[in-house]
Order: sequence, then structure tokens, then C-alpha cells
Amino acid sequence: MIKKTIEIGYTEYSDIKELPEKQQNLIFAARKAAKNAYAPYSHFKVGAALLMEDNSVISGNNQENASSPVGSCAERTALYWANANFPEKKILAIAVTSLDKGGKKAKHLSPCGLCRQSMLESQQRFSSPIKVFIDNRDHILEIPDIESLLPLSFSNTSM
Ligand SMILES: [Zn+2]
Repeated sequence: MIKKTIEIGYTEYSDIKELPEKQQNLIFAARKAAKNAYAPYSHFKVGAALLMEDNSVISGNNQENASSPVGSCAERTALYWANANFPEKKILAIAVTSLDKGGKKAKHLSPCGLCRQSMLESQQRFSSPIKVFIDNRDHILEIPDIESLLPLSFSNTSM
């Protein structure tokens, strides 16, 4: 038997101004998208913004449904729209943020398992890491790639 450990590295910023302007603008786009989320059931609005290789930004938000499995998270709304409309464009980064009922960001937001798996597929599609920026109430996390969020993941190499 061999015990092994997986570690992930990430960067925590206490102020958005510590990030380069391009990443700041990506987070601002996610914040704007969160305001337009359709979340009448959870009242938890999430916004996501993708930085594409041509520096364009594509955003999405959660779209809930009375039949809850039908709804979509912000990350997948943005990802699928990007992949459907710009199938040749690489995604460099994704920023995710949230707004609760009172208009506050979550203390510790984290993409769900379905979104992690979807982001992994997009990353592998272009063989290029997608950085993740998580815009929490008191800090911003920068995660270098999707494998860091989904270790020991199922992928096209698993089959
Ligand atoms: Zn999700």
C-alpha cells in the first residue's frame, strides 16, 4: 500500500486591485452577469465570465427552473454559449461570482461538480489551462487550472 497526497496551489488576493486590469475586467463582467441571473427559487445569483483567446469576454449566469434539474449554473451557461458560437476559440480564464438575497457575495463560492467537469472538457478540448477566479466576499482566489479543482477526474483519457 502506498499513501499519496494531492496538493493544489492557488493565489488569494485581498483586493481586486492586486490583479492586472484584464483580470479585474473579467471579474467585473461576472459581477454584471450575476445581476441578470434568473434565480427565483434559490435567490442565489451567480455570474460567470470567460476570457477568450482574442481577449473578448463572454458571460453567463444561472438560469433556474421550477423543475430544478432543468436549470443551468452560470459557468455552464457561459461555457456552452462560448463553445456553441466560437468553437475555435480557446478559453483562457473564467471568473465566477455570486449575489445572495441581500446583495452580498458568498463567503466561499465554489463551482459545483457538474461545472468542474464541463470546464475540464473545455480545457482538454484546447489542451490549454483555464484559470479560475473565484470572487468571494472578502477575497479573490486564482486557481491555475481545472485539474486543481477536480483531481483524479474522469476525462477522455479515462475511457
Ligand atoms: Zn455548477
